[in-house]
Amino acid sequence: MAVHPSHRAALSFPSGNAKTGPIAVSSTSRLTCPSSCPLAGNQGCYAEAGFHTRLHWDRLSRGQVGATAVAFIRQVIALPAGTLFRHCVAGDQWPDPVDPLRIDQALLLQLARACRHLRAAWSFTHYPMCPENQAALRQAAAKGLVVNASTESRSKAAALVRQGIPAVCVVPSDAPAVFHHEGVRFVACPACRSGAGPRIQCSSCGGRFGLPLCAQADRPFVITFPAHGPRAAAATAHCS
Ligand code: SF4
Repeated sequence: MAVHPSHRAALSFPSGNAKTGPIAVSSTSRLTCPSSCPLAGNQGCYAEAGFHTRLHWDRLSRGQVGATAVAFIRQVIALPAGTLFRHCVAGDQWPDPVDPLRIDQALLLQLARACRHLRAAWSFTHYPMCPENQAALRQAAAKGLVVNASTESRSKAAALVRQGIPAVCVVPSDAPAVFHHEGVRFVACPACRSGAGPRIQCSSCGGRFGLPLCAQADRPFVITFPAHGPRAAAATAHCS
């Protein structure tokens, strides 16, 4: 059977990304980005804003680097036990070939099973949180891959957390590090906080023995990402 053009990904380990630290990271093809993502293109997508990230993403999306989803999953299986893995630094989950707004659940669960030997694995998605996509996220989390619902609306993020779906939310750059909205706590990503304390990366997030916050599927709070960089204004325009 022909491989769907969006079903590609590239793995990098250890990452040289300053925010993640030396963990395993991946990108998926730009063709995975659903039309439901309000940040797509020049609307605030941070992956489009980084020069080197965008060049790599262009090449991956043209099929010049990376691997098919199935080959990529084999690479994840081969990662050393205990590795931390952040999936989709750029790109989104692989779409169902017959419904571009539905996550390909079978492929996502195949990847989740490939993560079982890892210390933690997490990702993000801008797919609409319809019941089918929520079910895909719950099943992936149960197998070891926590996919966070990405939002720009505090009310939507709060509602998702109340339903048991881990959520993250882009907020304006001047939002407080910790605040409450509709009874739910919002906490800024430690790697985005400035301050005098030690610098936190995904590799050290959650404390020495804890799990990175984004990999905690049952956390009762929303993680916020303050809009930053050259497309901060465009991203902020989508915040509510
Ligand atoms: S909250 Fe932690 S795991 Fe999530 S992006 Fe920030 S540093 Fe990484």
